[in-house]
Amino acid sequence: MNRIYSERHIPVLLKEVVDNLVWKPDGVYVDCTVGEGGHTRAIAERILETGGRVIGIDVDSEVLQIAERNLETYPNVQLFKFSYVDLPVLLNLLQVHSVDGLLVDLGVSTYQLKGEGRGFSFNQDEPLDMRMNLENELTAHHVVNTYPEDRLADIIYNYGEERFARRIARSIVNSRPINTTRELVEAIRRALPYKEIHSRKRHFATKTFQAIRIEVNKELENLAKFLSFAPDLLTPGGRLAIISFHSLEDRLVKHTFKNDPRLEPIGDFVAPSMEELAENPRSRSAKLRVAKRV
Ligand code: SAM
Repeated sequence: MNRIYSERHIPVLLKEVVDNLVWKPDGVYVDCTVGEGGHTRAIAERILETGGRVIGIDVDSEVLQIAERNLETYPNVQLFKFSYVDLPVLLNLLQVHSVDGLLVDLGVSTYQLKGEGRGFSFNQDEPLDMRMNLENELTAHHVVNTYPEDRLADIIYNYGEERFARRIARSIVNSRPINTTRELVEAIRRALPYKEIHSRKRHFATKTFQAIRIEVNKELENLAKFLSFAPDLLTPGGRLAIISFHSLEDRLVKHTFKNDPRLEPIGDFVAPSMEELAENPRSRSAKLRVAKRV
């Protein structure tokens, strides 16, 4: 790994996750999105002396190397390159028949966003990629250069909640071929009124980049699949904790927790405190929901 990377990922809602998820001191927990291992470490620490263990998975082999280094002193952690969509397969291989807690921390890790070379960021000029799993075929380059204008507009509108989606989609189509993140930023810039470019609180390309990333990684489809089988992996009383950063994800989680007869929601959602927001602005749209297996 030779990427430039100096910024560490700060785990979101860390104490709230551990307090809500870890209910059985000698339990088996799965962190379905290990990233750099912030949540995994806190869970492992809490159950280290009491015989509990954590299975951690991530689809990004580069980020897993960082997690391996960060977690090497925890004998109760096992890491695997796996998608949470295939978690039942992994648990079968490990002969683990049920678990006491499942954590999913959605969104993108700081390593993916700020590190060089993966095409997630509008602040660098890189080939358009945005894959979390480098073995997948679908890239941002394919989405941006081959999807029909209407489909692109729907993706940017729904996944990016971008009100100028149609104009942006048209500008993207007219600017093809688009090979780099900078070229994509310029195509977005050409679509937006001057006022939008300068008055937005966040960079004007944020929403479009988010939308394309969600499409490339099939983030909503994966979450929906996971929610359909996750309750069956839990022991009675087992906890399912999900941190989402997007209203569509949160709606899916809220709806499942409310309507799935296998689950009982624990309280309402938890949002970051003022202190956390000040320390970690990335946490601003995070919502943690927790449910219990009945
Ligand atoms: N909780 C982590 C920490 O404290 O360092 C950060 C997790 S980060 C927000 C989300 C991670 O989920 C990324 O590393 C990404 O590669 C991973 N991911 C995305 N889709 C996945 C999937 N289908 N299966 C497993 N991991 C996935």
